[in-house]
Amino acid sequence: MKYHIVTYGCQMNVHESEKIAAILRGKGYDRESPLEEADIIVFNTCCIRENAENHAFGNLGALKKLKRERKGLLVAVGGCMAQEAGKAELLKEKFPFIDIVFGTHNLGELGELIDRKKGQKKAVISLKEEREAVEDGIEPVRTGFPGAFVNITYGCNNFCSYCIVPYVRGREVSRDFREIVKEVEGLVRSGFREITLLGQNVNSYNSDGRGGLSFPELLDACASIEGKFRLRFMTSHPKDFSEELVRVVKKHDKICNCLHLPAQSGSDRILSLMNRKYTRAQYLDRVKMLRSAIPDCALTSDLIVGFPSETEEEFEETVSLVREAEFASAFTFIYSPRTGTKAAQMPGRIDEETAKRRIMKLIAEVNENTRKCSEKFVGKTTEILCEDYDPKKGLYLGRNEAGRMGYFASEKNLIGEFVDLKVERANGVSLFGTVEN
Ligand code: SF4
Repeated sequence: MKYHIVTYGCQMNVHESEKIAAILRGKGYDRESPLEEADIIVFNTCCIRENAENHAFGNLGALKKLKRERKGLLVAVGGCMAQEAGKAELLKEKFPFIDIVFGTHNLGELGELIDRKKGQKKAVISLKEEREAVEDGIEPVRTGFPGAFVNITYGCNNFCSYCIVPYVRGREVSRDFREIVKEVEGLVRSGFREITLLGQNVNSYNSDGRGGLSFPELLDACASIEGKFRLRFMTSHPKDFSEELVRVVKKHDKICNCLHLPAQSGSDRILSLMNRKYTRAQYLDRVKMLRSAIPDCALTSDLIVGFPSETEEEFEETVSLVREAEFASAFTFIYSPRTGTKAAQMPGRIDEETAKRRIMKLIAEVNENTRKCSEKFVGKTTEILCEDYDPKKGLYLGRNEAGRMGYFASEKNLIGEFVDLKVERANGVSLFGTVEN
């Protein structure tokens, strides 16, 4: 029997889809297939941004015909959109052919839900208010070789006013550090070369006392594992970003000198409305502290424009923050209201035209930084972890420590190997050159 998983959203969801694949394999769905040939289709949804939610609704609608044509096809919907208040009912009403709805807290029960559905005609809807288990028993079907994700926390305690995550993923729960270190050791032994530790706010790891170590201590333990590999982590919250963490990053060559530190805005008033719990000056102080310890550290960020009541001057403060912090790259978003969050109730909605104009200006500023950062590599040699082959370009590709994508020709399949790229030219985040080893 065959399965197909449709994943929306961030790395967290990509990794959860790897766990869903493992559960499906355990239930006899042993091969991944195109959507049209699958015996079970699982939508792993995301509700963090309106776009991802709209996509999921559109794609689910398109399944109606397939469900009619393929007898026995099961359709399951999980992820944070399913967990959102009232969404399970809405999904069932709009798409009555859905067989199973499950939430973010009970992903581990998907196998039992499939069994239950097979024994009844009615749809199975199973959602839990809080997470009970941390799914340490599930061995994910890894899809990102030579890279692998490892969850260190689930959920979030921060309640940024625009964000739905704490409502749909619950309060923060940390995995025991021994389980995490064991998982990283196993991945390195199996040949994975880039491990990314995942959490909504990795810096607050162990805030519930269930981890056993602080985040810098955990990072130190993971980076002390024998073998040639890279270690990354995301996401860091600026309010918890500490000197101790920077010391550990500096201490280990294995930890990439590339940090993601979402600023979201450059305006103190907007940061306060966002409930981010730091000011522009405090954010820039942390950047300064990082740069004085590790001058060549690439810094990336997330930025939102068009937050309710954002003035032109406040938007310009975000633009100037991009210049001051010299982000190597940044994800830029137009604010989209999420039902149930504080910001969704705030007055001063910014019109679409203004928001689009602002984001175009911000993107131009970010692109200029990206270009400058990539140009620095031209004429130099940089280590690339080869990740894939692009048949259209006829080139292998992989990222360097700073997250730049390097492209090169090779007669040999080098996927999973570290190579030295002599960079000849740069374009955006891409570097092109020849391999020296
Ligand atoms: S830190 Fe803020 S933006 Fe990030 S997941 Fe938590 S509430 Fe959302």
